[in-house]
Amino acid sequence: MTTYQASANVCTLSSLTNDKQAASDSGESQKIYLPGTDCVIKSQVSLAGYTSYRVGGPAQWCTAPRNIEGLQASIKYAQTHELPVTILGAGSNLLVSDRGIPGLVIVTRHFRHTYFDLETGLLTVAAGEPIPALAWEAANQGCQGLEWAVGIPGTVGGAVVMNAGAHNSCIADIVVSAQILSANGNIETLNREQLGYSYRTSLLQRSDRIVTQATFQLQPGADPAKVLAITKQHKEHRLTTQPYHLPSCGSVFRNPKPYTAGWLIEQTGLKGYKIGKAQVAQRHANFIVNCGGACAGDIFKLIYHIQNQVQEHWSIRLEPEVKMIGEFQAAV
Ligand SMILES: Cc1cc2nc3c(=O)[nH]c(=O)nc-3n(C[C@H](O)[C@H](O)[C@H](O)COP(=O)(O)OP(=O)(O)OC[C@H]3O[C@@H](n4cnc5c(N)ncnc54)[C@H](O)[C@@H]3O)c2cc1C
Repeated sequence: MTTYQASANVCTLSSLTNDKQAASDSGESQKIYLPGTDCVIKSQVSLAGYTSYRVGGPAQWCTAPRNIEGLQASIKYAQTHELPVTILGAGSNLLVSDRGIPGLVIVTRHFRHTYFDLETGLLTVAAGEPIPALAWEAANQGCQGLEWAVGIPGTVGGAVVMNAGAHNSCIADIVVSAQILSANGNIETLNREQLGYSYRTSLLQRSDRIVTQATFQLQPGADPAKVLAITKQHKEHRLTTQPYHLPSCGSVFRNPKPYTAGWLIEQTGLKGYKIGKAQVAQRHANFIVNCGGACAGDIFKLIYHIQNQVQEHWSIRLEPEVKMIGEFQAAV
């Protein structure tokens, strides 16, 4: 057995020393109210309910601020107590270890506000806004540009960081700028070039910057009925070609051009292959689904098995798109 410390978007925020011990190892749940904010930090919060896979152990500490002040206070708390920070949006591209995550998990999904400028087509949205709801809202307003995103169950922040995409479009096509909270507590605005986009990635990955808001350029003035019809088509296509009825993280692997990961996995004969309660989906081989009662370890082992099998058959090492957070063990 080898221990695998998977990559995480862990902010290594400046190490302000403080001899107060933040974490209690007693295992009892605790609440810390951050003064001057409505922000509460709780201990030992199960993350299974915060991820689309419905698996994962507890966050040592967890908070879900509703505004910048709460976010800044949470970051300050983490710095003061030397806690690593992990950012979680809708948790739809994450595999959280069964052992949980040390430090402070900051959930951004309660960051909510939306401003549509129907004259210019500029859409300014908070990091926690759900992408599918925005796609429907844009369509209702007769704004084109987000129809492709209706089936992506993430937040604005997660989509900006991941450069989420579908149907030959992606966030990089529409993003104008992103508002960022840096490790030093400053708010800055990065334009599209500064975000360093390429296929399903951005410079924000593996950085300690937190997206608080984004501005997208949409095309206003279209007939809402037409935009709604295209949006609906995309949604229906998803529902028929992908296993939306079971917990998953969407595509597990990045597509190694010129192939698609799903095709390689299917040709390797792995459709339907199961480890524990985790299964390579019958409907789409680049999905691993939780058939009910899977643990993160099952999913991790299946990812590892797929990588090895595909490598053996095709001499291609599939690279996970899913972000794995915490410690995992794989049989070798
Ligand atoms: C059924 C299903 C279908 C999917 N289809 C697609 C698809 O078609 N195309 C596609 O691209 N993806 C797809 N996904 C994957 C996922 O929805 C996207 O990657 C999405 O953009 C992740 O957003 P999130 O808010 O869930 O991010 P999370 O999964 O919570 O986080 C993803 C990463 O972003 C970081 N992060 C999140 N928010 C912030 C923030 N505010 N600031 C800084 N870092 C942040 C996290 O630390 C983590 O590293 C699918 C997932 C599912 C479950």
